[in-house]
Amino acid sequence: MYVAKLLFLFIVPYNISAANPDPKTDGKWVIVIDPGHGGIDPGALGSISKEKNINLAIALKTAEYIRENIKNVNVVLTRTDDSTVDLIERPKIANRNNADLFISIHTNSTKGSKSVMGAETWIMGLASNEENLEVAMKENEVILLEDDYSTKYQGFDPKSPESYIIFTLTQSVYQRQSTDLASKIQTQLTEKIDRKDRGVKQAGFWVLFNTTMPSVLVETGFITNQSEERYLNSKQGQDSFASAIFRACKDYIDDIDNKSSISVGETGATTKNNSGTLLPAGKTVFMVQVATAVTRTEIKPENFKGLTDIIEINAQDRFKYATGIFDEYSQAVKYRKKIETIYPDAFVIAVKDNKILPLQQALEQRRKK
Ligand SMILES: [Zn+2]
Repeated sequence: MYVAKLLFLFIVPYNISAANPDPKTDGKWVIVIDPGHGGIDPGALGSISKEKNINLAIALKTAEYIRENIKNVNVVLTRTDDSTVDLIERPKIANRNNADLFISIHTNSTKGSKSVMGAETWIMGLASNEENLEVAMKENEVILLEDDYSTKYQGFDPKSPESYIIFTLTQSVYQRQSTDLASKIQTQLTEKIDRKDRGVKQAGFWVLFNTTMPSVLVETGFITNQSEERYLNSKQGQDSFASAIFRACKDYIDDIDNKSSISVGETGATTKNNSGTLLPAGKTVFMVQVATAVTRTEIKPENFKGLTDIIEINAQDRFKYATGIFDEYSQAVKYRKKIETIYPDAFVIAVKDNKILPLQQALEQRRKK
């Protein structure tokens, strides 16, 4: 292994240049929308409705608004009907689709006062108080309905506060972007459709734990509040929530598209490619990819769960982040296993001159030597 002292170094990819002013023109935005619960899991219960149906109606409408009104976008839903989807599957759907944004849609409830109402948007993090922890526990509880949950979720018990220690490992790479999207959603919900503002909050939601993109969970309103339950079940209410979430996505995308076209131009003009000093030139090596993003993430340990040897690889319109530099594929596989607890979806890639090679091709080249 080439020991990587890359802490303060930053690789500038080959194929970013002034000649490529807008990286998103040919790249599609992929937005995954996750209607919470479904099938055997009704979610929270109101007096006239079930959470799962409200979530689905709002999610379908949101997808429709996004498809109709944002160019260059691909919307994927984790369910489009009343089917059961395991919690563990939902982030995987987003990861498999290389999503740029993940939005889980839910409806809140409380055992306390029926007068409690309002909208809140959550990002992954450690709950700062009991009340916040309870919301996450409630949303994670569905795990208990699934077969073999203790193996699948590595012993995670949604009802035990101790289990939530696992989330201390996840200072997410995308915390800043997730917060940005969450704030935009809250702004829309409170200023444009007049919901009571309960703010942007953090807690350990399993569905946000393993995603490799900016991710949020929206609690639209309280099914336990009579007037809010009625609003959540009305066509007008559902349309309003959907339009608010869609507009927040549009604002987010517009911001990034504007920023990236400027920053790419500047980068191309003023920086040099210094990857030769880090990756052996002209040689294929194996690395473990831990993250991918449309926007550049600053390389520092806090952004990568403490890893100090992250390097950036540019591939088409994405920034990819990888760790470890190995001569042998088997060493990279071993290393991937080692960091599995903090990056469960990491995978081995082959890299040559700061470009990703198809893995099969790299392995075949090796075999021929
Ligand atoms: Zn829910």
